[in-house]
Amino acid sequence: MPELPEVEHVKRALQQRIAGRSIVNAELRRRRLAPDTSPRIFDKKIAGAKIAFVHRRGKHILIDLDNKRTLIVHLRMSGRFMHLTADDLDPKFTHAVLHFDDESRLVFEDQRHFGLMKVVDTPKLYEAKELSKLAPEPFSDEFSAEYLAGVIRSSSRVIKDILLDQTKVCGVGNIYASEALFLSGINPKKRGKSIGRERCGHLFQNIRRVLNEAIETGKSIDPHPTVIGEGIYGNGSETRWRVYDREGDECISCSSPIKRVVQGSRSTYYCPKCQR
Ligand SMILES: [Zn+2]
Repeated sequence: MPELPEVEHVKRALQQRIAGRSIVNAELRRRRLAPDTSPRIFDKKIAGAKIAFVHRRGKHILIDLDNKRTLIVHLRMSGRFMHLTADDLDPKFTHAVLHFDDESRLVFEDQRHFGLMKVVDTPKLYEAKELSKLAPEPFSDEFSAEYLAGVIRSSSRVIKDILLDQTKVCGVGNIYASEALFLSGINPKKRGKSIGRERCGHLFQNIRRVLNEAIETGKSIDPHPTVIGEGIYGNGSETRWRVYDREGDECISCSSPIKRVVQGSRSTYYCPKCQR
């Protein structure tokens, strides 16, 4: 599943590729992609508008139109955008299409059917239920060491679960939670309230560090001709992870084997010796 750095990468690529384009019509082919609207209303709210600006909140991509509406998109497991020409065929799992006035089109393809779209009035964007309860952005001033320590130390949940809760910490998913906990020497099974203030401070620094590293990696990837934001998980990204997806490998710090545990039905990777 894409996490914040990957969504940031897609957002930037979309802004470069589609901002300023005029939408002739909008097709919602899989109705459950946008459960709040019908295909007819979806088209009515979008057709004729120009794409003004693409931004992001957490893992949501926000496409502002010049008709005071915003298209909220969540990629979930496998959603992705493709920018195709009139000569290209639609991919197999085409769930929505924005047709532009230059005859190119933006296709939303989603093999696993978990993606979500919603059209809202831009002035009320942050009142949308998808966005209203999200924790502060990890690079905002609001997200501070004090904020994070407060959230962690007032909770009896295990730290991995707290990090994945988007209402507590925004944008961190399975990969970057494992990575940040490793750098901070914190065992992923530790309860929030048992983690000291100083260690919370290290975790705060390391959350920003791992997200920032991944965003920087994304900037160095050459744009794919059709798939928007393609390649951030490829190009040797596996060698860049310290513990994630490295079960049985030697810890880069102490050479002990990296362990995998399942927490909340998702894998967590950690070094039992370095993370206490
Ligand atoms: Zn170790």
